[in-house]
Amino acid sequence: MKALLVEDDENDAALLRGLFKRQAGIDIELDHVTSLEAAVNRLAIDVPEIVLLDLNLPDSSGLNSAQAIQNANPDVPIVVLSGHDDEDFAIEILNHGVQDYLVKWEGNARTILRAIRYAIERKRSEQHLNYLAHFDRLTGLANRQHFHDQIEKAIARAKRAKRRLALFFIDLDNFKIVNDTLGHDAGDKVLVSAGKKLEQCTRAGDMIARLGGDEFAVLVEDVGELRDAEAIGYNLLHALSDLTEVDGRPISVTASVGIAIFPTDNCNVGALLKNADIAMYQAKENGRNGLRFFTEEMHSELLNYHRTENDIRKAIDLQQFHLEFQPKIDLESHELCGLEALLRWNHPVRGRIAPMDFIPIAESSGHIVPLGYWIIEQACKHLQAWQQLGIAVPQISVNVSAPQFQQPDFHRKVRAILEQTGATPELLEFELTEGLLMEDTDSAQGCLQRLKSIGLRLAIDDFGTGHSCLSYLRRFPIDVLKIDKSFVSDIGKSSDGEAICAAIISMAQNLNLETVAEGIETQEQLAFLHGHGCNIGQGFLFSKPVRADQLQDLFPGAIHSDSIKSIGDTTRIRLLEGVCK
Ligand code: C2E
Ligand code: MG
Ligand code: MG
Repeated sequence: MKALLVEDDENDAALLRGLFKRQAGIDIELDHVTSLEAAVNRLAIDVPEIVLLDLNLPDSSGLNSAQAIQNANPDVPIVVLSGHDDEDFAIEILNHGVQDYLVKWEGNARTILRAIRYAIERKRSEQHLNYLAHFDRLTGLANRQHFHDQIEKAIARAKRAKRRLALFFIDLDNFKIVNDTLGHDAGDKVLVSAGKKLEQCTRAGDMIARLGGDEFAVLVEDVGELRDAEAIGYNLLHALSDLTEVDGRPISVTASVGIAIFPTDNCNVGALLKNADIAMYQAKENGRNGLRFFTEEMHSELLNYHRTENDIRKAIDLQQFHLEFQPKIDLESHELCGLEALLRWNHPVRGRIAPMDFIPIAESSGHIVPLGYWIIEQACKHLQAWQQLGIAVPQISVNVSAPQFQQPDFHRKVRAILEQTGATPELLEFELTEGLLMEDTDSAQGCLQRLKSIGLRLAIDDFGTGHSCLSYLRRFPIDVLKIDKSFVSDIGKSSDGEAICAAIISMAQNLNLETVAEGIETQEQLAFLHGHGCNIGQGFLFSKPVRADQLQDLFPGAIHSDSIKSIGDTTRIRLLEGVCK
């Protein structure tokens, strides 16, 4: 038997060793250390069957010594060796999970050995009781009480890290029939197999529990998107629906899964479990073998995601998309100096869907990549068509999202589109958001450089809303900063907003960048921006985004007219007249 003796008194150690040696038939391998630190280090490498512990050590004393050993290895039994006989203290220390208390020099090798054996036995039964209190005997999974504690801890972690948890409540659909027709043994086997399937289809950190009967639960920490939780839910359903072989006969069980999300669906353990349970019942009512989120909003959000994703896929071929163009006005010359192409979707059933309601879905589903090439191509074709009509369009800008920009062959495809359509690269501008550039600055710099070498102009859109690092602005080959419309709308309302606009403009001037202010709606905003040296304006004050055919009427006047001398109302009326023709 291997024992670790933690004893700083060499004489006491020698005494004990002597005792064991003299007694025939005792086979104890004594490993001796003289400090708590050495003991803890030893436990990290090697686990003895027993620790014989003197509480008063050079680097620790009393209960602390015992607790440090327990922390180092909660599974090892401890017998305390004390220099004096103090019954009260003995009881206290036994209450703290130490298995026995012996007074040194009392007793012989035999009694000490018996104490060691009892201590080991006592530890074993404590562990067994502990196991029974925390785990389900049939499946070996956490029981309800233990799961409850685990959720509580996970919630605390999630709060600190500001993360989302997903709780899956799982109920087997036809378990009762199996139990009633094939008997309890078969039922047990189905439950054990369900537990195993859940273990196999989850990741190492996920917590699985059997809550009772045919109810199981899984807790997953750090779920990013709702869709991730959904995917996990379907994995669970899929895994459970695999056939189970019981006594040579295949049995099919399906399950219903309810999902609750922390913190959306509640922040306390009991309510979270209850909400997941309610969601599970809804899944059952929906026809079983399915899953359901607790909140209606979440469920419809997800349905909407899938429906929209599906519809986007078809919408290009069905020609449901078109571009609209919003004029940009040179604030000095008051002339039209460019257009921003904005995507529009006319859905045959749902009507016009706003970009904010479908672009993010196109981005996360990847559909933005083909759609993005289509947008660039359309913009180039329009450029060409106008030029052939003799209309000199000064410049056209297109919004580019991260997944497009991150395609390794993006620049090549863009070049190919320019060649095919014959559009002049210098007239095409890409608007990129700060976040996109800051994600991976090195590769972003490479991408920007390649686009720049084609001849494109590059703008940072919604500037000021992300976390830009100014030193990168210098490194990136950028031509334009677009001041986000949230700052523009603050002009006249908040001095902070005004200060930000003024700071962006002056910074851009220092870096030799052009500034475009987007979302100009009032004369006051216009005057402020122009007064601070902003170069270009865009917004409802001048014109809303309009269809290409409405724009054509507007070009000659807007570009060549001497009549637009004053910006503001006149320009807008002029532009709107064009639009309304
Ligand atoms: P963005 O690039 O910042 O576009 C400007 C948005 O502001 C447009 O909204 C435009 O209609 C709106 N806007 C223009 N002037 C005013 C104004 O005076 N007041 C107010 N309140 N709003 C104004 P829209 O068309 O709904 O587009 C929203 C966003 O969707 C765009 O923001 C852009 O991020 C994205 N988006 C639009 N079209 C495309 C596209 O073709 N490709 C990509 N990747 N994203 C696009
Ligand atoms: Mg834009
Ligand atoms: Mg913008």
